[in-house]
Amino acid sequence: MMIRKILQKEDPALHKVCHPVTSFDRKLGALLDDLTATLKDAQGLGLAAPQIGILRRVCVVMDEDEQYLELVNPVIVSQEGEQEGFEGCLSLTGMYGIVKRPMKVTVKAQDRHGNPVEYEREGVTARCFCHEIEHLDGHMYYERAGRLFTEAEVDEMLQKAEEEA
Ligand SMILES: [Zn+2]
Repeated sequence: MMIRKILQKEDPALHKVCHPVTSFDRKLGALLDDLTATLKDAQGLGLAAPQIGILRRVCVVMDEDEQYLELVNPVIVSQEGEQEGFEGCLSLTGMYGIVKRPMKVTVKAQDRHGNPVEYEREGVTARCFCHEIEHLDGHMYYERAGRLFTEAEVDEMLQKAEEEA
C-alpha cells in the first residue's frame, strides 16, 4: 500500500475519460489499496483513480459511517431531490464552490473481485458519489460552480449565515 501523489487541476490526466475495468486482478486490488491509503492520508471524503494518474473507472468514497466504499465501473442508476452546498476537491486544494447535486443517489458498481454492488446514500455521501464519478469522465466540480471561494471566505459566509439564523 502506497500513498500516492494527488495530481492538481492543471494535470491532463484529470481531463480525460477513464477506461472501464475489465480485469479484476491484483493490480486492481493494489490500485484500490493505494486510493484508500492516499484518501486517508489526505483526510478527504473521496478519491478517483485519475487523481493519482490512473485512467481507470475506479474510485473510493468514505461514507458517513466512515466505511471506505470501493467502486469499480460505478454508474448512478437513480437520483432524487436536490441539495446545494459547498464542495471541494483534493485536486484543487484550498478552494470551494457552491454546487447543486441530487439529495439521494443509487450507484451500481463492482467490487475488487468483479461482484456487483449497489449503494444508496443521501446528503454528503450522495454528493461525493456524484463528484467522484464525474472525475472518471474527465470533469471537475468547478465546471458546475460559479466563482470559487477560499477557506477563509467560506468560514466567513458560514459564520454570517449562522448569525442570521
Ligand atoms: Zn475531486
